[in-house]
Amino acid sequence: MSDPALYTNALWAYVFLCVLTVLPLTKIAAPYGRHGRQGWGPVIPARVGWVLMESPAVIAFAVFFFYGAHAHQTVPLVLFGLWQLHYVRRTFIYPFRIRAQGKTMPALIAGIAFVYNVFNAYINASWIGHLGSYDPTWFTGMPFLIGVALFVSGMGVNIQADRTLRALRAPGETGYKIPHGGLYRWVSCPNYLGEILQWTGWAVLTWSWGGALFAVYTLANLAPRAKAHHHWYHQRFADYPKARRALFPFLW
Ligand code: NDP
Repeated sequence: MSDPALYTNALWAYVFLCVLTVLPLTKIAAPYGRHGRQGWGPVIPARVGWVLMESPAVIAFAVFFFYGAHAHQTVPLVLFGLWQLHYVRRTFIYPFRIRAQGKTMPALIAGIAFVYNVFNAYINASWIGHLGSYDPTWFTGMPFLIGVALFVSGMGVNIQADRTLRALRAPGETGYKIPHGGLYRWVSCPNYLGEILQWTGWAVLTWSWGGALFAVYTLANLAPRAKAHHHWYHQRFADYPKARRALFPFLW
């Protein structure tokens, strides 16, 4: 798995995957959450789906990382810790916080995301744990400092925006309201904006093609979804704020 030739081929596959993801998503919204609909096969409880599909980002990532020759070094271990800070929360805490009583998602969506997360774990963990090389001076370089700032601020934006959404529903409620406050003043999906910023930060702080492709993939996946959410809000709520953009304040 740590063969550089295999890794290079996997990076090219990742480029192809970004294109393969963005093209259909500009036409059809991924069928979960508010865009959930029949015709996508058997469904599973939404919480179970979240835990299942995100778990490789914790477990497979740890396996690929600790299999690597550099896994005991300080910089790779710090990078590993930042990754796990996000994914342990996303996999084992977030699904139990959302107001998702009675909500389901297609098993197909969870399955596709599971496979993607194994692949993405391989790409990123193999780089930081084995193929990349980071000496301790990395901590004082600009990529690390700028990358950490982006990663942490993106994560903060994402968590705060998801918290605002959660607060819109009382326990047991499943409907939708217009979110207000924070970055919702300017965009419909600040949680996605935070996620994109965070993985852009990861790309910078690891200074890797794998990290860059993960950031591009996140954009390819979430920008069309932000557009679909934004359109849905306008159709659903006549009083939806007119000046609010979909994803990027004042721009788009
Ligand atoms: P959404 O914003 O669609 O939903 C988040 C949660 O808030 C869901 O429980 C949703 O309920 C609820 N919710 C959303 N809008 C409203 C509203 N107006 N009123 C009441 N409740 C609302 O996000 P996703 O489910 O798509 O994603 C969840 C998290 O996962 C995000 O932080 C996102 O950034 C991240 N993610 C990351 C990806 C990546 O590529 N790295 C890919 C996908 C997600 P319901 O489910 O019932 O709609």
